[in-house]
Amino acid sequence: MIGAVSAVGIAAAGAFAHGTYHRNSPVFGRALGRLPLPRDGVRIAALTFDDGPNPEATPRILDALAASGTVATFFLLGRHVERWPALAARVAAEGHVIGNHGWHHRKLHTQSPASVRTDLELGTAAIVGATGAQPRVFRAPHGFRAPWVSRIARSLGQRTIGWSLGVWDSARPGVGAIVTRTVNGTRPGSIVLLHDGDGYDAAGDRTQTAAAVPLIIAELVARSYSLVGVPAA
Ligand SMILES: [Zn+2]
Repeated sequence: MIGAVSAVGIAAAGAFAHGTYHRNSPVFGRALGRLPLPRDGVRIAALTFDDGPNPEATPRILDALAASGTVATFFLLGRHVERWPALAARVAAEGHVIGNHGWHHRKLHTQSPASVRTDLELGTAAIVGATGAQPRVFRAPHGFRAPWVSRIARSLGQRTIGWSLGVWDSARPGVGAIVTRTVNGTRPGSIVLLHDGDGYDAAGDRTQTAAAVPLIIAELVARSYSLVGVPAA
């Protein structure tokens, strides 16, 4: 028989695991997992790209976005911004929302508050240095958070963003699969997680995602979606 005390302990452990592992969990501070829907009924969705910039994929994705007049959100990784500052500057110059993804791409739920703060500050500094833009949104690597992660992001003026649709494009399932999963999974208000970079390999191959993006945009526009950046407030 499970006593009341241990039942409470189990419930607390469950809440802790949910807060750590679920990217939109409110347990450790609110993360935006869906876009607020406009009252006028316009179908909006947000394409978000993590782990860039990447020398092969990011320019192709930017070209596709520009060709269709589409705005997206890029959660840039500090390490990669330092390596390819001109690419980061191009993302900002073309009017996309710039987000902080930290510096190292460590799983932040395993890190102390001091180390999380350092990681987020280094990521922010790299972005500001390369783009001149102050990031107002933040996404944790893998969505993993400890109780202090969103609080630290907020202290840097950055709103924590989760996602409502991940299509596992980083596993490189083929261009067709990335397009189909994205288009079939998108609903009004969806925040779609895609990857223009690799959080661990600076030159990681994201060419499938890059090839999928123009097809995704065309399909979503055909379904009357307006693609928007994620809101900072
Ligand atoms: Zn990442």
